[in-house]
Amino acid sequence: MPGWLELREGLALAAKRAYRRGIQTGSGGNVSARIPGRELMLVKASGSSFEDSSVDGFVVADFDGKLVEGAGKPTREALLHGYLYRICPWMGAVVHAHSPYAIAWAATGKALPLTTWHAKLKLPAEIPALNVPSPMVRTEDFPLVKAIYDATPDLPAFLLVDHGVVAGAADAVNAEHTAELVEETAKIAYLKAVAAKLGL
Ligand SMILES: [Zn+2]
Repeated sequence: MPGWLELREGLALAAKRAYRRGIQTGSGGNVSARIPGRELMLVKASGSSFEDSSVDGFVVADFDGKLVEGAGKPTREALLHGYLYRICPWMGAVVHAHSPYAIAWAATGKALPLTTWHAKLKLPAEIPALNVPSPMVRTEDFPLVKAIYDATPDLPAFLLVDHGVVAGAADAVNAEHTAELVEETAKIAYLKAVAAKLGL
């Protein structure tokens, strides 16, 4: 039986839900959970699909994204997850997905406005979009990430231009719900902009 079973179950549940909700296809995206009291995290192994997630599909990595235990390679985006756990003590899990409307909105370069009352109730601030000139967030990009958490320490999510959404919460299921809410909010923002353009 693998260690930290409860965390693994939460991660598998979150990943499957993200796949079913259509915010992640194929083998993209990643999820992780902080291992309490350690500078370690459980993170999705590279190359696996959210759809096929099981409690065995996660490896233990340190906050630099290096494998500590388990079969498989940590996702290359584990470096970002580890950095988020370092700077956000409240964050217990991270869900990252390549959700289409979030990416479409991020292309505007503008923060995602809170387009519904539900979003206003659930999210403390507009969701910033970071333009990282790389397929993954690297160490040299960390100042961009730090700046948004300095501005809003409890920021639940941010967008990556041409890439996707990164959501953090106390646990994986809640982080996934936030990623869904960001996608819904982005879809409505997009549709509102189209309706305005059409003069509706
Ligand atoms: Zn990604």
